[in-house]
Amino acid sequence: MKRPSCLHINITIILLVALALPLLMVMGASDYDRVFKQEPLKDNSFIALSPYKSIEGFEYWPLITSKNNQARYVSGTNPHRGTDLSIQVGELIYPIYDGEIVFLNQDISSQTGQIIVKSYVGNDQYVYIEYLHIAPLEGLNLGSKVYTSIPIARIDTNKRYDCHLHIGRVDEANKLHFQFYDLFGSVPAWNMGSDMDVFSNPQFNNQTNDFSITAYVSSDTDNTDYYGGYGRFPLEYIEVYYSINYGSWQKTIISNHTNFTYTFNFKEITKGKSGDKIRYYITAIRDNDSDADTTFKGAPYRISYYPAYFAHPAYSLTYEQAGLIALELTLN
Ligand SMILES: [Zn+2]
Repeated sequence: MKRPSCLHINITIILLVALALPLLMVMGASDYDRVFKQEPLKDNSFIALSPYKSIEGFEYWPLITSKNNQARYVSGTNPHRGTDLSIQVGELIYPIYDGEIVFLNQDISSQTGQIIVKSYVGNDQYVYIEYLHIAPLEGLNLGSKVYTSIPIARIDTNKRYDCHLHIGRVDEANKLHFQFYDLFGSVPAWNMGSDMDVFSNPQFNNQTNDFSITAYVSSDTDNTDYYGGYGRFPLEYIEVYYSINYGSWQKTIISNHTNFTYTFNFKEITKGKSGDKIRYYITAIRDNDSDADTTFKGAPYRISYYPAYFAHPAYSLTYEQAGLIALELTLN
């Protein structure tokens, strides 16, 4: 058989590139797809339990190695859509609320076994909690009722990723990822829930115009001198973007924090006056030159947004993109 000439090969390559181009363009456009949603629980009296406990029911609170909405050094979803808990292979996993299985993937060939449980959390609200990188236990089906005292899965063996539980709150279609900290607001081991998300506990005082928000990253760094390799790490700084009365966007950088909580006064930073409408959003810039957390040295991607929104957000947003995520307050 005659071998194809170089010309034929070249034409084939050109054709393949031409065919792939629209696909690549679609992937580029998807950077600004919406994948996150900020929506707190309406009723905080429905306490979530730990997904990890002893046979006697004693709850463990594993170390968090990567938070929801955290920029990370991978080619996959970035920021991270969910929270990673360090749990050893084979350990049993329990649902954090009673509920019903609404999604089940028992194929663990690529370490993507997954269960989504729908649970009622009061005030006419349901949450959907996903458990990923697990091996679902035998006997579970779609529609199975599950209880916080009965395990649903084991941590899967290391096939593509280090063994861990990836857990998150998703929407009914498993497309959007919600912030997660408010489910664990009474858990000291998880810093009152703040270990779950890059940003947590935004507070605005509409009398004084004071604002505070907690922000940091969690890593399993190579630097084992630091918490044996795990830890909470400060950001390099946060940026507060603001627009006064729908004008152009400006920003101010804030580096000082107290126990990872950043506090500032909206009237002072914007130099606005009483009655001004302030639109705002905040970015967290990870410290890539940290001596303590060596995980991200040279990582190209280091930004998280509050409110979390985009799939792969750029360092700065256009006026229209900013308008999509911005929150609004009125200065007193
Ligand atoms: Zn994960």
